[in-house]
Amino acid sequence: MRTVVLAGGVGGGRFARAVVESIPPADVTVIGNVGDDLEVLGVHVSPDLDSILYALAGLNDEERGWGRADETWNALDTVSALGGETWFRLGDRDIGLHLVRTEALRAGRALSDVTAELARALGVESAILPATDDVLRTWIDTEAGTFSLEEWFVARGHRDEVDAVRFEGAQAARPAPGVLEAIAAVELLLVAPSNPFVSIGPILAVAEIRAALERRRVPAVAVSPLIGGRAVKGPADGMLARLAGGTSPAHVAGCYRGLVDTLVFDEADEGGADAVAELGVRPVVTRTLMRDEDARRRLMESVLEAAGAFA
Ligand code: GDP
Ligand code: CA
Repeated sequence: MRTVVLAGGVGGGRFARAVVESIPPADVTVIGNVGDDLEVLGVHVSPDLDSILYALAGLNDEERGWGRADETWNALDTVSALGGETWFRLGDRDIGLHLVRTEALRAGRALSDVTAELARALGVESAILPATDDVLRTWIDTEAGTFSLEEWFVARGHRDEVDAVRFEGAQAARPAPGVLEAIAAVELLLVAPSNPFVSIGPILAVAEIRAALERRRVPAVAVSPLIGGRAVKGPADGMLARLAGGTSPAHVAGCYRGLVDTLVFDEADEGGADAVAELGVRPVVTRTLMRDEDARRRLMESVLEAAGAFA
């Protein structure tokens, strides 16, 4: 079944792995967020694409949730000793990938092209597509000032309350090659349990992508990133409370109005089912914490059943 997954980083990577454990990997296209991309120490980092890449290649660090397993930090220790920037954590193995990508980008190659090559080299059978090859950057407005996504998230520990999220370059951004084709051919559309504002938001901010998704005629299922109204990790709960007015499943569903027909959310939020249905979105309650392969399989059974595709 040709499947498209919209995904951010940690929740996106975990879910992408769940998807390819249940659907043949070659049938799966992941469309990833590039709003967090940054240049640090002279290298181009695509945090969310890398989380997906590492998760699908089986190289990710489960505990930390980002970066590679068996990582070492010698390069960054040297940077620190020399008084360089160390707020953004880059492991030695990770840096190797960034070097290859950065060189290719400087040689004029598109991010989508480089990403495909990295995925191939790491044995990933699914397609991993950046939403766009154009520069699209997420900015976070707070009382303390405006920060790039990673500066707010990592350097400031996402403590500042978010007044607004803006996507610089989104207006002019075109979908990366393959994105519209994948959506046109899709049989099942999935939205990962990623942050709706800063992970899925930048993908939907590309007008042609949103329009293509709105036109689809196939089941679309989103999985909520909140469990018991709380994010498993990161700022999604606080952002929903502040920017959407609450942390119930209906508030999550509201972020995807007109885009999904089903929201899968956790048993801990069961009480919110009626409010989801009132939005015209089908509520599906299950356990959504992807702690191991069994949990991922059970979540995917619910997702596929919800999509009416469970053979
Ligand atoms: P980021 O780009 O690295 O911040 O990652 P994402 O936006 O893709 O994912 C962050 C979200 O993933 C957080 O809001 C978490 O609550 C959610 N998340 C992480 N692990 C799980 C899980 O096992 N189940 C569910 N339902 N959500 C998860
Ligand atoms: Ca991210």
